[in-house]
Amino acid sequence: MPQVWTRSRAGTASPRQVRQPVSARPYIHAIELPLDWAPGSTQVYLIEGQPLTLIDTGVSTPASRAALSAALDSLGYGLADVERVVVTHAHRDHFGFVEGLREAGADLECCVHEADAERVERYDEILPRRIAGMTSLFVEHGVPEDLAHVLEVERREASRSDLAEAVPTRVDRRLVEGDRIAWKDWSLSVLHAPGHTPGHIVLEDEEMGLLFSGDQVMAQAIPYAENFHLDGPPEVADPLRRRPRFRGLVEMRRSLRRLRRRPVRIVLPGFGMALGRAQRSIRDTLLHYEVRLQRIDRGLRSLAAMGQEVTAYELGTALFPADEPAGMLRAHLLLLIGALDCLEEDGLLVTERRADGVLTHRHR
Ligand SMILES: [Zn+2]
Repeated sequence: MPQVWTRSRAGTASPRQVRQPVSARPYIHAIELPLDWAPGSTQVYLIEGQPLTLIDTGVSTPASRAALSAALDSLGYGLADVERVVVTHAHRDHFGFVEGLREAGADLECCVHEADAERVERYDEILPRRIAGMTSLFVEHGVPEDLAHVLEVERREASRSDLAEAVPTRVDRRLVEGDRIAWKDWSLSVLHAPGHTPGHIVLEDEEMGLLFSGDQVMAQAIPYAENFHLDGPPEVADPLRRRPRFRGLVEMRRSLRRLRRRPVRIVLPGFGMALGRAQRSIRDTLLHYEVRLQRIDRGLRSLAAMGQEVTAYELGTALFPADEPAGMLRAHLLLLIGALDCLEEDGLLVTERRADGVLTHRHR
């Protein structure tokens, strides 16, 4: 997406991308902030009232800071005036600049769901742990160790920009399902919607049918689901003695199905314009994954018909093109493992552990 920010003669960013997306809620302002990577921009929301609140902050880069500062300035505020930030989830483009606001003088309350709070507070420590947790997951699912190592090195390299664009910061309020974000005459309720991250939240204005969706539902983009081993010993209740794990796709499917039952009419996403056909956007996101799940399910069925048990990696080599770039291969492996999690959740999968520790699967 091309940059939409221009420079005024004074040398400051000119806030062309400040909008009031909902006429019945004129105190909500959508602000588009630049990113150096795809999709090129992210959307945050300033909500006027007491306390003056931002939903997400963009990254901690000079360009994003200048754009946010100019946008606030056009509305009569400065960075130091922000009194509260509600973070939809612990990705750099959503919480990266909270600490920057504090350094600019804002005495603000930072609100994050309890399952993402630790990552916001200790991002530089947690992110490498999550990457290592993905590597052990790949090896357990049959990815050759040398390839898993290549994928880890590539991800670690890429994570340098994650770490450069987000500054860890203190969380003042750990949110849980059902909490309310309140102003004098208005409030939003917190719905826990895990999947994209463990602590992703969406914020609902039930009366208006408004949903601040973060990255859970976006305009013309599909969120990925995280999947990684958590710290801790194997789960006692699991006969395969697998380590505890965040199964993002199972969670995301559940979160999206739940959102379909909510009276949502307008989605205010973390990327792209407001979505007036909210239920269709939610359904399309769900459908995107259902189609891929069915494809993987069919692949497993045909292998089962030949009496074969397969690893996730073997299934991947049968379904996806060979010689993919590392980033694409990693995304496909995560999708596959997530799909296997969903099939297991649906009672359609038998998983066993081979003598070498690798998990194999067959269709029930
Ligand atoms: Zn995200």
